Amino acid sequence: MRRKLAAGNWKMNGTTISLTEAENLAKAYTSPSVDLLICPPSTLLSRLSETLGNSPIATGGQDCHAATSGAHTGDVSAEMLKDSGATYVILGHSERRDTYDEESEEVRAKAGTAMENGLTAVVCLGESLAQREANNTLDIIGGQLAGSVPDGATGENLVIAYEPVWAIGTGLVPTLEQIAEVHGFIRERLIRRFGEETGNAIRILYGGSVKAANATEIFSVADVDGALVGGASLKASDFSGIIDALEKA
Ligand code: PEP
Repeated sequence: MRRKLAAGNWKMNGTTISLTEAENLAKAYTSPSVDLLICPPSTLLSRLSETLGNSPIATGGQDCHAATSGAHTGDVSAEMLKDSGATYVILGHSERRDTYDEESEEVRAKAGTAMENGLTAVVCLGESLAQREANNTLDIIGGQLAGSVPDGATGENLVIAYEPVWAIGTGLVPTLEQIAEVHGFIRERLIRRFGEETGNAIRILYGGSVKAANATEIFSVADVDGALVGGASLKASDFSGIIDALEKA
């Protein structure tokens, strides 16, 4: 039985004042029936981890370098994230794949380092609108999945997030049939590569314009084990609507 996960990606948003939002969330969910995660900018990670220290809400980074340490100005390592209290790290987000030309091979190396450092890698996959319109969605997702996920993945150290690029921050959401098709495909590929038990243990999140208003129907789709949420995770009141829907799913 996979435990569901509601993960918030604050992206490059948030200063000290945002800790209040996390505190409000922690007050509202003292013993949630689903896993909760907030991935703030690196500048807030230590303080957020301290703020949430006595709560069931986990913290995570939004990226890490593939190397353990060294001359990589501006980057953070998996070890540093762990040292800041993180237990998860988002990797291969489409904004990084696009802006920094991150290829799946690099994402795989980062995920391997994250796992070696005891972090759970949330590996993001997603097709562009042009790729969907050209009927290439499953080819793209299959390639990204095979390329980005290292050997040795388990239900504990890996979470997959399916995030169609055209749905991120746009208000556009795929149909439930489209979500079901991709999640079913990812599940089948995970089972084929890692075997029945591990393939069925790895959680698959949907991400892309999830809001309280559409969460219930998205969570009704088979193999949707939760959500990776951008904009709607910034305010506790918005994120709560999504968490409540996940708890009821
Ligand atoms: C994201 O960036 O991971 C995301 C899903 O963003 P949004 O929820 O704002 O579409």
